[in-house]
Amino acid sequence: MRILLVEDDLPLAKALQKSLQSEGFVVNHVNQGKLAINALSTPDQDMIILDLGLPDIDGLDVLKQLRNQKSTLPVIILTARDSVESKVKGLDYGADDYLVKPFEIQELMARLRVIERRLGTASSSLICVGQVKLDTFAHKVVVGESNMNNEIEIHFSKKEFMVLKALMENAGRILSREQIESKLYHWGEEVLSNAVEVHIHKLRKSLPEKFIQNVRGVGYIINNAH
Ligand code: CA
Repeated sequence: MRILLVEDDLPLAKALQKSLQSEGFVVNHVNQGKLAINALSTPDQDMIILDLGLPDIDGLDVLKQLRNQKSTLPVIILTARDSVESKVKGLDYGADDYLVKPFEIQELMARLRVIERRLGTASSSLICVGQVKLDTFAHKVVVGESNMNNEIEIHFSKKEFMVLKALMENAGRILSREQIESKLYHWGEEVLSNAVEVHIHKLRKSLPEKFIQNVRGVGYIINNAH
């Protein structure tokens, strides 16, 4: 899940980015409304966390512009304005939820999970392909057959898990290295040119043979039938 974080309070933005990333979200951060509007013209986001008090354009106007473009991207607004009016306005303008500053990070996480569930990306928290089961909530991967009593849990690093999740969610479709990278890294984060290959190599060591296939020059695929 990729989040665009629009927040001009840099220490807060840094802290949020860190917490969200440790939960497996990919976070792209901008500190101005204009930059947010630019960023929203690319399909790089699944969700927005939008501060209302921005230095250039009011967050509510960013939201308005987004909804005028018929975008249904989920938006959580952050407001320091503890007034009923700004909350109501935000919701009227099409925000999905709001948090009043200061808030607890756990509360934000809970709100994000609600949106994730609604989006359906997490409605089936269990993705099964062949003998591999991946639980997106519990961050668990189990390989084997339950009726054969030979299931074992395999521990992967956070990035390895994210690569496997991306491929399993798209089982039957080839994902290019760039598509996989965009799900793992935020803008400006340094990516080693062979990072995806390294993650795939690690994953393959613990997964059934030929579970992840390499399509030469195109990318990687997990076939539906195993
Ligand atoms: Ca602000």
